[in-house]
Amino acid sequence: MEKVMKCYGCGAIIQSEDEKHIGYVPKQAINHDHVLCQRCFQLKNYHRLQDTHMSKDDFLEILGLVGEKDCLVVYMIDLFDFQGSLIQGLIRHIGFNDVLVLANKRDLLPKSVKERKLEHWVRRQLKEEGLKPVDVIITSGKKNLNLDTIYDAIDTYRKGRDVYVVGMTNVGKSTFINALLKHYAEVEEQNLITVSEFPGTTLNLIEIPLDENSKLYDTPGIMNENQMTHMIKPQELKKVIPQTELRPMVYQLNVGQTIYFDGLGRIDYLEGNQASFIAYFSRNLKIHRTKTQKADDLYNRHMTLTYEIEGIDTIQDMKAYEFTLPQGKCDIVISGLGFMTISSHGGKVRVYVPPRVSVMIREAII
Ligand code: GDP
Repeated sequence: MEKVMKCYGCGAIIQSEDEKHIGYVPKQAINHDHVLCQRCFQLKNYHRLQDTHMSKDDFLEILGLVGEKDCLVVYMIDLFDFQGSLIQGLIRHIGFNDVLVLANKRDLLPKSVKERKLEHWVRRQLKEEGLKPVDVIITSGKKNLNLDTIYDAIDTYRKGRDVYVVGMTNVGKSTFINALLKHYAEVEEQNLITVSEFPGTTLNLIEIPLDENSKLYDTPGIMNENQMTHMIKPQELKKVIPQTELRPMVYQLNVGQTIYFDGLGRIDYLEGNQASFIAYFSRNLKIHRTKTQKADDLYNRHMTLTYEIEGIDTIQDMKAYEFTLPQGKCDIVISGLGFMTISSHGGKVRVYVPPRVSVMIREAII
């Protein structure tokens, strides 16, 4: 099978022939598997958004074109950063097509959490977005979890139609499609993948024949620029992106105490009774507890250098968000970094993160 390289930013097929075409990388720059196209490179390093990226409009145009087809949409979401991996406005664009949701990266959540529980949680979150999928399947492309179930579900729900796989960048679409190919491909290897363009656009799709009359199309994604991972240098990502099951770290916190997630963010406990704060982050991330009184000083003297984040020299350069905690367990999520489960009805927390990183509160996933 000819290896198709995709930009890890936008999912465009990497090519070195046409600088104006999407996915362009100069030949000499293609020296490893993890490659960013020139446009995404500029976006990431120089924050040049306009004219240099497969724009949100291009992406929505693709979704609009998918909406015009009578097809099954397979929508992949990342369980580790669920809200951060949702496609904003998806329903508006895909019309009345059936949507099969694959909630990926289950391997990162503790094994003890029941699949059924996760599935119900996903359904409730999607309902809030106004999406009612034909089915939700919990999976891990990395571990081939439920691959047979997914394969059968696609076959059942597509009813002979084409299939379009959609998802934001990094949710694990490529890993999943490769797993599908490895396990079920009955076609000659060299015919497995072809690359086509959506008519009238310059956007590449990977197409995989399902049978004589229908195909599965992998559509390019876009990056969520509000994830922590985009603030961090590539060589430091290993410390931040969890590779294995998240190990819950429990902290009993009193008002006036702070938890730091290395130099990347912090949570101050402002009001409430003593409560457990359960941290679900990469095992390589250092978590410190300190008194809030000393927290600014600690950051400014010791922590600004642990991760050099552009534009952040002191804690004052971070952005603060305050949340009042609801009844029951909730998660405070720092997009792309992890989440903290807290139960402290009426309590208040303040969260500091680099500007542009999303923080949110949600019903606890675990
Ligand atoms: P795409 O941009 O949606 O095509 O995503 P990729 O397949 O390139 O995966 C993005 C990142 O997520 C890579 O670092 C993968 O190794 C990782 N990844 C993909 N699937 C899984 C999974 O099931 N579990 C975990 N832990 N990581 C995954």
